[in-house]
Amino acid sequence: MSLDSLDGSPHPALAAGATLAAVAEAAAGCDLCKLAAGRTQVVFGVGRADADLMFVGEGPGEQEDLKGEPFVGRAGQLLTQLIEGIGLTRADVYIANVVKCRPPGNRDPQPDEIEACAPWLDRQLALVAPRVIVTLGNFATKLLLETKDGITKLRGKEFPFRRAGIEAILLPTFHPSAVLRSGGKALAESRADFVGVKRAFARAGGAA
Ligand code: URA
Repeated sequence: MSLDSLDGSPHPALAAGATLAAVAEAAAGCDLCKLAAGRTQVVFGVGRADADLMFVGEGPGEQEDLKGEPFVGRAGQLLTQLIEGIGLTRADVYIANVVKCRPPGNRDPQPDEIEACAPWLDRQLALVAPRVIVTLGNFATKLLLETKDGITKLRGKEFPFRRAGIEAILLPTFHPSAVLRSGGKALAESRADFVGVKRAFARAGGAA
């Protein structure tokens, strides 16, 4: 994937300095796609800057846009429970999204928005350098695995991830919002996927 912005000039993720905090500061003023116009603020990411486990969701919703933190609404509460269910806390992990600004009315992020925002995620991946990455739902899974296959087919499996200069184990699972919508079976499958995450994390030498 190119790290150039859509008009061909260098993407600000490249010029943003070496630390995650510096990149977050640069992202706070991003106007590379039309989502910038409707956001309250950029929702860059949260958690431990050197986490061994990183979650990637889709995009901020209303609560996240207001608070400036990913996964703080109902879906976030479920994600927190799933993380705690494998003996970790939100402070042990890093959480980001495919797009950093709220799509209006919580619509799906569009291809041009995902493309414009991808270098920010690549920079987060490179700097956090997690050993295990969990993609939450179709958008993160398709982007990071460069696949057209859907989450139902891919969930619960492990994939090697080599991009942004890092090597990690990637596990796709359902998006927590989809689990909230679907109920019992999806929740059981999510929990089973998180057991796989715990195993991969231990195998990869992950530290909390
Ligand atoms: N859904 C997401 O994909 N990300 C968030 O931060 C919140 C809800």
